Amino acid sequence: MNIKNMLRDGIKELVPYEVVPFEGKVKLDAMENPYDLHPLIKDEFLRELKGLAVNRYPDPMASELRIALSLYLGVDREMIILGNGSDELILDLLLTFGRGKIVYPEPTFAMYEILAKIAGAEPVGVPLREDFELDAESILEVGQKGIIFITYPNNPTGNLFNQEAIIRIIEEGSCLVVVDEAYYEFSGKTFLPLVKKYPNLVILRTFSKAFGLAGARVGYLVANKEVTGEILKVKLPYNLNAISQLLATITLRHGNLLRERIDEITSERERVYKELQEIPCITPYPSKTNFILFKVENLRNRDLFDLLIKEGILIRNLGESGILKNSLRLTIGKPGENDIFLEVFKKILQEGDIVRLMICSDTSSKPLN
Ligand code: PMP
Repeated sequence: MNIKNMLRDGIKELVPYEVVPFEGKVKLDAMENPYDLHPLIKDEFLRELKGLAVNRYPDPMASELRIALSLYLGVDREMIILGNGSDELILDLLLTFGRGKIVYPEPTFAMYEILAKIAGAEPVGVPLREDFELDAESILEVGQKGIIFITYPNNPTGNLFNQEAIIRIIEEGSCLVVVDEAYYEFSGKTFLPLVKKYPNLVILRTFSKAFGLAGARVGYLVANKEVTGEILKVKLPYNLNAISQLLATITLRHGNLLRERIDEITSERERVYKELQEIPCITPYPSKTNFILFKVENLRNRDLFDLLIKEGILIRNLGESGILKNSLRLTIGKPGENDIFLEVFKKILQEGDIVRLMICSDTSSKPLN
């Protein structure tokens, strides 16, 4: 009996999503918020958790959270759907509207491609230009059916694409356009007000990054009622568990407590960016998120990644080829974690082993500090 022969088309080639357990001291790989729950949020959550009836199924529409979000966003509650992370909502969007081609600029968030394959659709990545800008022309050429996904700001490049190019895609694309604003709270830029104008626009957001609830798995989308009405046919009834609904509602209630931390993360991002700029053979790219993409010259990114792991620091190793060749992505942590990273990083670069791998031409013009 051959189990492989029993698979649906497209599943055979997939590999399980693997996250290697990490026991080091500084984890800067997954764009998580480095801070634990604010003590006031934690206290309120633990108090209310005592009265939570977990023997009952959760509210399928996450009504309390949905109402809180509708006030926070200034949209009708019927325009909001909550998901078990925004990953789940991407799958729901694909299962509802993902006929034909699923188009996204490349490189971008990997789950559009993976989930498109799982949903039986055809994923098509359209390369970004050298300056990390969208190629709206090509995206429109390919994506006239199905869904176009645009991450704003983009992961892993960290930039905000040209607004006019995105509006052109929404206006000229005769398909659903999903603007994934997972990093919105760090960029402050959004297409949300345009949802009322464009029936084919969907905004996707998450509580996993700025709101610090990656472990609770809460995401949401905002779209016109006709679109949300269709997605509700596909959404699993009890997709968002009661504990996460409660925690996200309390967190949203105390949104003001998070502002200070978000501001600190963005100012740390600018500090780390400047420090990386000073390092020979390292080119960091400006970012509107809580991470920084950087390229290493004349040095193998894999070696750098491994040496950091040996020092107990995990960042994300990216490309071996193409536009991300020799690139790594650093998530911004607490100031102390960023300091450890910078210190170890500079030390590694100065050490003999790695220097031998470097054929860096301009070490004299940019001193290591
Ligand atoms: N969209 C983008 C652009 C992301 O980078 C991520 C997470 N890395 C997600 C969505 C998924 O977020 P969630 O934790 O809500 O599933």
